[in-house]
Amino acid sequence: MSASPTAIGHYINGRAVAGSSARSQDVFNPATGAVTAQVALAGMKDVDAAVAAAQAAFPAWSDLPPLRRARVMFRFLELLNANKDKLAHMITAEHGKVFTDAQGEVARGIDIVEFACGIPQLLKGDFTDQVSTGIDNWTIRQALGVVAGITPFNFPVMVPMWMFPVAIAAGNTFVLKPSPIDPSPSIFMGELLKQAGLPDGVYNVVQGDKEAVDVLLVHPDVKAVSFVGSTPIANYIYETGAHHGKRVQALGGAKNHMVVMPDADLEQAVDALIGAGYGSAGERCMAISVAVLVGDVADRLIPMLEARAKTLVIKNGTNLDAEMGPIVTSIAHKRITGYIDIGVAEGAKLLVDGRKFTGADAGEGCSNGFWMGGTLFDHVTPDMRIYKEEIFGPVLGCVRVKDFAEAVNLINAHEFGNGVSCFTRDGHIAREFSRRIQVGMVGINVPIPVPMAWHGFGGWKKSLFGDMHAYGEEGVRFYTKQKSIMQRWPESIGKGAEFVMPTAK
Ligand code: NAD
Repeated sequence: MSASPTAIGHYINGRAVAGSSARSQDVFNPATGAVTAQVALAGMKDVDAAVAAAQAAFPAWSDLPPLRRARVMFRFLELLNANKDKLAHMITAEHGKVFTDAQGEVARGIDIVEFACGIPQLLKGDFTDQVSTGIDNWTIRQALGVVAGITPFNFPVMVPMWMFPVAIAAGNTFVLKPSPIDPSPSIFMGELLKQAGLPDGVYNVVQGDKEAVDVLLVHPDVKAVSFVGSTPIANYIYETGAHHGKRVQALGGAKNHMVVMPDADLEQAVDALIGAGYGSAGERCMAISVAVLVGDVADRLIPMLEARAKTLVIKNGTNLDAEMGPIVTSIAHKRITGYIDIGVAEGAKLLVDGRKFTGADAGEGCSNGFWMGGTLFDHVTPDMRIYKEEIFGPVLGCVRVKDFAEAVNLINAHEFGNGVSCFTRDGHIAREFSRRIQVGMVGINVPIPVPMAWHGFGGWKKSLFGDMHAYGEEGVRFYTKQKSIMQRWPESIGKGAEFVMPTAK
């Protein structure tokens, strides 16, 4: 008889709780298809409890000197480093991405914690001595209060860490609503924060779906919402949160292009397309899903790409030599194979058909998992749905264009603007590309240009709703409000009321 699946609940006021809602959802191991846990789906009562805990913790936490908040982050950093492989295993078990890639995800999350350790420096304000005779003026940045993070399935550690380390270090208290598809790391991170000395109520987790999100979006005590996920939901979060008076940053979906110029190093370009197209089974918002092949490069590059796509090492991500793991859910698997059917019907040329790869090919124990291979299309055109829409799977489409200008115009006309890349050996082309392209994150001979912790992450167009990027100094600005203080200490009795607008004297 098999053991009943583990129950995963919420994390409120410094402890794991089951919650009061009767709703729950299965958690799968995508490699085997087995149900490994049941995650609770919060209702209004659970979300209210989390927000109340965060609200109660806010006055003392925000009043603590930034250096003391930073020290908690330093201890959290040590604990994360000690537990990074444990976190990576949790990711592989519920998301399916290969273990080495999960280690990379954890490492990129840790970068943000390192950045947040510098919060005393980041919160320093500006000061002007003597703005007027005997008057000084300075600015400080103060925490907002309770802030919420709503995160996607594809980075269950890194994307929450785009948010809570900066938010908490800046003096806010936090309620995380992670994806119910891979909920375990969110609770474990709470336990590590507690061990690091974080007071109860500063970091809380409510597991759940739309029902929990909708409570957060209208809750009067939630001052700001950070969201990362698909574009329709990002749009909804932005509009609803703003309508209820909240600060919102909502990062959406993507369709990232990689331009290969005729002078590019083809071996490097092929490696880049394979890694960025099929790594994490294409389930990255910075995955490359369109190769834009300029001039005669297609005829030289495509045979190399096709050969490499056919030899991808696809197996359970726990194997250290695996290059690609399973698709996250059976629903996602159906959507992605559906797009391959559409691409064929639209007339794109299918060079490698990932639909043929099944669980039986993935190795022992995988026959019920959510498996497919890498797919490669040639002769994709801008009018096709497989070009216009986000597939979010291991499907790479090649579009042929005659020159650089056509490549730039094609990309600039796309509704998404998250990441983009250009492979070339020509410095002028590289510079022109970086300046002309209407995309938020640009790589030159770098396929996945995810900015480092101190630069901030964000796309343009339908890939980001709101003004501020995630993390970096933009993150600090998002999670704080500026206050300007003007101060005078008169040496003698005042000269009477002044009725004209004060100007420098
Ligand atoms: P998703 O939009 O389905 O879910 C994201 C979050 O919103 C989850 O917490 C989910 O529970 C919640 N949610 C889902 N439906 C909702 C609804 N109707 N109302 C309120 N909340 C809802 O996204 P996903 O499938 O988890 O993640 C993949 C998507 O995220 C892709 O589109 C990908 O491009 C995008 N993504 C973007 C970035 C970025 O930085 N721009 C980063 C990672 C992922």
